[in-house]
Amino acid sequence: MKGASSGAPTVEIVTVGDELLLGETVDTNAAWLGRRLAEYGLVVVRRASVGDDRAEIQAAVGAAVAAADVVIVTGGLGPTPDDMTKEAVCARFGLALTMDESLLAGLRERFRRRGYGEMPETNRRQAEVPESARVLPNPVGTAPGLVLEPDGRAVILLPGVPRELRGLMEPQVRDYLRGRFRERLAPVHHRLLRTTGLAESALADRIAAAIPREVGPVALAFLPDLTGVDLRLTVRGVTDPAEATEHLDRVARLLTPVVGSYCYAEGDQDLSAVVGELLRARGMTLAAAESCTGGLIAKRITDIPGSSDYFMGGVVAYANEVKVTELGVDPSLIASAGAVSEEVARAMASAARRRFGADMAVAVTGIAGPGGGTRDKPVGTVWYAVATGESVTARHERFLGDREEIRIRAAQAALALLWLNLRERR
Ligand code: AMP
Ligand code: MG
Repeated sequence: MKGASSGAPTVEIVTVGDELLLGETVDTNAAWLGRRLAEYGLVVVRRASVGDDRAEIQAAVGAAVAAADVVIVTGGLGPTPDDMTKEAVCARFGLALTMDESLLAGLRERFRRRGYGEMPETNRRQAEVPESARVLPNPVGTAPGLVLEPDGRAVILLPGVPRELRGLMEPQVRDYLRGRFRERLAPVHHRLLRTTGLAESALADRIAAAIPREVGPVALAFLPDLTGVDLRLTVRGVTDPAEATEHLDRVARLLTPVVGSYCYAEGDQDLSAVVGELLRARGMTLAAAESCTGGLIAKRITDIPGSSDYFMGGVVAYANEVKVTELGVDPSLIASAGAVSEEVARAMASAARRRFGADMAVAVTGIAGPGGGTRDKPVGTVWYAVATGESVTARHERFLGDREEIRIRAAQAALALLWLNLRERR
């Protein structure tokens, strides 16, 4: 509502840059800002993107101040002539720009300290500040953030470089917004339950049978991607964090028996991190033998810092010869059952375990496509196995999607099989 002074404050995000309109740069700033602003308790009501064009910037910011309490503008604060956000916005609100000598001295110092020598003259513009603006020092770059307050609105100018934007938002812009709108903020509390191995619709059916879609102030959302479905629990409008946590705990407890065997994490942890924690807790080591995933499982596992504690290594055994020479898979097995088969997946896992002297090994063999499918083994057919000292477990799946998607799904399924095995152990 225009001019509203009660209710959650509203925001419009305006991102500036020709590269955004041309699709050369994906507008990650708007997405990141959207999530953060919601967490602070503001409501993003609109988003706009414009090119590096003075009139377009002015029209967008003019429309935004009419639509929202706060306007956040990113991009176009650089030193080059195509960066014109500050000049355009100041002209729109009739604000004069003056040189801020201490900012200028700071800029010169920054160049010297970094060994770049004298500051180029083109950077001088970045030390010009609109009259009555609040200047937010940039901890990681040259363009400061600027807070203008024309007609009681807040117009906040921030650099486009994502790292600089984030460094300015937190804590500076966040604290400014909290100070200014304190009693109007409606914080949002989230909890994420990450599941894998069950399709969104199947998950939704199970949950619908067990609990209502809204439980008190907790709303439930399904966020599917190639690796599984995240269940996001959201509490809005509860200011006391302890009370919000209680609501979230209660719904999480209702969900646990329903999704327990598919739910590998609470929070934004990757499955490979969960597997890693279990390996460490059990004092076990792991090896990998990968065909169609081409090293993706090893990559996911080694994405986790400290994975050298439990991960021995892996082989990308892509060609049949390599499955034989590097792993020691019996060639007659490949000839009789085919490279994509239960027998070969099992043999790869056992062989990798022995070769690497690991406690467990995971193996994958499949047809990622687009070619190579047959009637019996269509594209997407994947066998995967986990070998331990006691046994070998193999599963297969017909994954849908293109080559990339099939590989991502296959790596996740293999990690999930590992997770299930590790979870059962004490
Ligand atoms: P600028 O502040 O306009 O000089 O932007 C500097 C760089 O930041 C651009 O070259 C882009 O790579 C990046 N950038 C600008 N705007 C965005 C945006 N909305 N999302 C992601 N990256 C951006
Ligand atoms: Mg730009």
